[in-house]
Amino acid sequence: MEKPAFLDRDRPDVPDLVVPGGVTPFYLAGRPVRGRLVRLGVLADTLLTRHDHPAPVTRLAGKALALVAALASALKFQGSFSLQIKGDGPVSMLVADCTNTGALRFYARTDDEALETLLAETPKPTDRELLGNGYMALTVDQGPEMDRHQGIVDIAGDDLSAMAMHYFASSEQHACWIMLACQMTDTGWRAGGLILERIAGEGGNHVVEDDAAEASWETATILAGTLSAKELLDDNLPSLQLLNRLFHEEDLHVSQPRALAFGCRCSRARLANVLETFPKDDLDHMCQDDGNIVMTCEFCNVDFRFARKDIATQTQ
Ligand SMILES: [Zn+2]
Repeated sequence: MEKPAFLDRDRPDVPDLVVPGGVTPFYLAGRPVRGRLVRLGVLADTLLTRHDHPAPVTRLAGKALALVAALASALKFQGSFSLQIKGDGPVSMLVADCTNTGALRFYARTDDEALETLLAETPKPTDRELLGNGYMALTVDQGPEMDRHQGIVDIAGDDLSAMAMHYFASSEQHACWIMLACQMTDTGWRAGGLILERIAGEGGNHVVEDDAAEASWETATILAGTLSAKELLDDNLPSLQLLNRLFHEEDLHVSQPRALAFGCRCSRARLANVLETFPKDDLDHMCQDDGNIVMTCEFCNVDFRFARKDIATQTQ
């Protein structure tokens, strides 16, 4: 007897890659500041090169991956944390998500003609020029039994870090400082980020006064602002050394680093379930001359082939 689709768990080869210490959480004792340093290392190259996007779109996607890794690692949740940006620019949709275990993935949907036109006029477009006007949503999805927590704001600012800071300024209560970078290096694409969050006084053992808290926050953001993209993306500069370089006079405390990993959750069984909800006409239309239907995972860009005759259709 042939194996039904839902039992067929085999999936094509996707990289089984884990970057230990991809996220380094830290806080500045006695100051209202906590943060995370995120460095995707080789994972950035592995995730980004599975898609054939022009370099400006790849840079934007790399920064989105660093951002979701930084934000997800600050939350206590089981499931996935996702960033979704939908605008009227050449990149019409950008999705990046990170699970509570640090599994990352992304996809970007582009209007290739509009993108070509933009890049011909502006070879180094801002993130805003790529995305246009629209909205940005951050969602925590903990499965069908749980409420989805979602915040939505308009796209504002020229780059993704400004858009994210605008999100926190308008929908959350605490201030955030965010730097994101993604570049092609001698060893491939690298992406990373540094995020500082202003927390309510309990950074250390004593409660700091308002003026002093304000000054400490200011100092921390000024120090963070001295970080260059080159340092952030340098594989040979350990994260601890980098943080010490920035905050050695600010009573830096580093917490247990966390891993990041290649994390597409697609499977043959899941896609077969999706196909089985399609009307017969659609399935016939999707069927190729060889009798197969090919479904491509938008996230990891892997093709899954299904024999048309094996797909059960809805009765209608
Ligand atoms: Zn996938």
